[in-house]
Amino acid sequence: METGSYRQWRKMVLDACMWLSEQGYFGSLRGSGGNVSVRIDECAMAVTPSGIRYQEMTVDDICILRFGLDAIEVKSGRHPSMESGMHGMIYQNRPDAGAVVHTHQTYGSVFALTNTAIPALFDEVALSLGPVIEVVPYAFSGSRELADNVASKLSNLANAYIIQNHGIVTLGKTLHEAMLHAELVEKTARIYALALSTGKSIGTLPAFALDKIAALRKMT
Ligand SMILES: [Zn+2]
Repeated sequence: METGSYRQWRKMVLDACMWLSEQGYFGSLRGSGGNVSVRIDECAMAVTPSGIRYQEMTVDDICILRFGLDAIEVKSGRHPSMESGMHGMIYQNRPDAGAVVHTHQTYGSVFALTNTAIPALFDEVALSLGPVIEVVPYAFSGSRELADNVASKLSNLANAYIIQNHGIVTLGKTLHEAMLHAELVEKTARIYALALSTGKSIGTLPAFALDKIAALRKMT
């Protein structure tokens, strides 16, 4: 199928991938790990291709799919990310999601290995991401089971999740916001890991702050 339309969406995804890759969010600079998508409308998304190094990726390599994974525009020889099902599932379950970022970021992945949720530690992070960053149970990469496991957590309306023994997935109203949320996860995970390493007790936000944050998040 001819490519050439949907250029603005494709470019947004490619630009996001370049930044995330340069910042180390995909876990390797020379690989193709992680994936990014943006919602086009109520049934379609632009999503990264599978197995293409980010440094070699071009605008036309970005795939245009329906949430159910039917191809709308996919360049000959390209295949959508193996995690496209997870992206489509998020858009179908969360009308507020305008973009999805899946990373293999270092400090976030510490908690993917220890299978530990990150509690509310900072006001601004809890406001943006939700009161807890929950762990999605492990399933093999790219499987329908993994997409279903992510979908099962989405009703808490959080904007970030830890995928057990895998990485992080964030969402946002915009692609900028989804990327910001990945940054907030990394900042929080880094500080939490360092704090845990001291062996001292760690304070979490008090109940009144959580109530206030819940009320503020309902307003946005
Ligand atoms: Zn992954």
